[in-house]
Amino acid sequence: MHKNKIWLSPPHMGGSELKYIQEAFDSNWVAPIGPNINAFEQDLEDYLGSHHVAALNSGTSAIHLGLVLLGVQPGDTVLCQSMTFSASANPILYQGATPIFIDSETETYNLCPIALEEAIVDKIAKDKKPKAIIAVHLYGIPYKIDQIRAVADKYSIPILEDSAEALGSSYKGQKCGTFGDMGVFSFNGSKIITTSSGGAIVTKTEKLKEEAIFLATQARDEAPHYQHSQIGYNYRMSNICAGIGRGQMEVLDYHIGLRRNIHEFYVELFEDIKGVTVFTVPDATYFSNYWLTTILVRPSETNGVSSETLRLALEAANIESRPLWKPMHLQPVFCKYPYYGNTVSETLFNDGLCLPSGSNLSVEDRAQIKAVVFKLFRK
Ligand SMILES: *Cc1c(COP(=O)(O)O)cnc(C)c1O
Repeated sequence: MHKNKIWLSPPHMGGSELKYIQEAFDSNWVAPIGPNINAFEQDLEDYLGSHHVAALNSGTSAIHLGLVLLGVQPGDTVLCQSMTFSASANPILYQGATPIFIDSETETYNLCPIALEEAIVDKIAKDKKPKAIIAVHLYGIPYKIDQIRAVADKYSIPILEDSAEALGSSYKGQKCGTFGDMGVFSFNGSKIITTSSGGAIVTKTEKLKEEAIFLATQARDEAPHYQHSQIGYNYRMSNICAGIGRGQMEVLDYHIGLRRNIHEFYVELFEDIKGVTVFTVPDATYFSNYWLTTILVRPSETNGVSSETLRLALEAANIESRPLWKPMHLQPVFCKYPYYGNTVSETLFNDGLCLPSGSNLSVEDRAQIKAVVFKLFRK
């Protein structure tokens, strides 16, 4: 990776990752099985508290296995937050089911409980009950946990909690990833911790965890030969990647502190700039890891400066920033599927920008970003 470029969210090693990789080589566990995997799962379970975790090779496979375990099949519908990364929705199609996209609300920018209920009521009246709800904690800000849970329980629909961006975030003291009937994490290169590529599924019981591992390792029945009575997947995490994960878990809370500090830096930077809002949790019951700090820029209040003007100015200074996720219902590949809501997610996409938020963002990096912002907004 280019040293002098300021990246959005680059990997940040803690120091002991190589030690665990060395152990894997020394013991010849260079395989998708071994002590690092078990220990990484244990670390995650200890961190989350009384939940069961299976380590997988990506967040996307975790979402796919979650849908498989929830029994999603061809002909089913799955409700999904529209404002998200495509990996939240793609596995619905892997299962041959139909996605129904839902707008965001304006406090956490995640799944809108009102539009969600509207979609459920409409689907029940016209067709049949949706099979699952995929809710996402975007950029590390928890969705409206209580309201979404109330809707899900009212209609008895399970929640698959996409916590890919929210490891370490919490709501009323409870960790994200543990609110859904199943939860999902990603450890891709840009996430709050990375295993280079990786993910995990969080289940409520040890039995479901074992089922997830069974499916993730090609669904091999007990027999001396290879015997299969179900379709399996090759979704298990490698013991090398899990070694990176063990090292990363040692610095997770420290790195979250650094990201929250960067969020604070941006709050101060934009404090007196009219027309710019920094995404922040609605109140003290929400705790965000602030994986990425994101802003909304309203050109009507900034003398015409838009999020795109800012993005280009940052790019000219070799600083990476990125528009927010483009909502799924506006994507060419998904626009034919039903959508419930208004234009909240669309506005977020038009006016939003993700700013460099890596836990290794240096003091000099901050000064460079500040200079670009001040010049553009003539402060
Ligand atoms: C990163 C991400 C995923 C996918 O995780 P991978 O490990 O990259 O497969 C899913 N959902 C969201 C919201 C993400 O940000």
